[in-house]
Amino acid sequence: MRKIIIAGNWKMNMSNDNALKLSKAVAAGLGDISSRGRIAVMCPPFTALTSVAPSLSGAKGLYLGAQNIFYEDKGAYTGEISADMLISCGCTFCIIGHSERRKYFGETDETVNKKVKKSLEKSLTPIICVGETLEERESSRAFNVVKKQVMGALNGMSKEDIAKVVIAYEPVWAIGTGKTASPEQAQSMHAYIREQLAGLSDASVSQAVPILYGGSMNPANVKALIECPDIDGGLIGGASLKAEDFLKLVHFDD
Ligand code: PEP
Repeated sequence: MRKIIIAGNWKMNMSNDNALKLSKAVAAGLGDISSRGRIAVMCPPFTALTSVAPSLSGAKGLYLGAQNIFYEDKGAYTGEISADMLISCGCTFCIIGHSERRKYFGETDETVNKKVKKSLEKSLTPIICVGETLEERESSRAFNVVKKQVMGALNGMSKEDIAKVVIAYEPVWAIGTGKTASPEQAQSMHAYIREQLAGLSDASVSQAVPILYGGSMNPANVKALIECPDIDGGLIGGASLKAEDFLKLVHFDD
């Protein structure tokens, strides 16, 4: 039985004061989600990780994640953040290969692969983002594009390591646009990703890996998406910036 994961990607938002307020409100409203097989993850900007970390204590099922990581351990890499630095801030998750990083910061399948391997070496859980652009979907290339991203991200990894990752399917055309993939569109891509995972590992590993949906998920559309058999939660941008909305997503079936 896979856990449901609701992860908030705060992107480049939140002063430290506001981050602390948001994280406290989320922690206060979660209730006992872990006994319901649920996990909530907050991914603030690097600058707010240490402000947010204390809010986790006492909140069962709530974890801290980063929005990016670098694949080297230390050294002359100005502006980069290592796995050990993230761990020292209290992180246990890390988003890798978000489409905004691929688009604006030159992230490639090769760098995603190195970052995934480094995260696992350090026992951070990578949330690996994949997804096609509108142009790729309209030219019937969505499945091939996503397959290439999944293969690239997991290249050279053992099935034991593949079993430790989380995948987030985020169609680029649905991110921050208010357009959500329909449950049918999302489910068919999630099932396809699971098939690719089975090919790279085996059926039991592919059944164990959580596959999240991301792209304008909100309290109104969450239930229909998460009720699909291969959708195991969400990676949420805009709606994770309001505690009330984020909590509604976590408690999507209440
Ligand atoms: C995201 O950036 O990962 C995302 C899904 O954003 P939004 O929910 O705002 O579409």
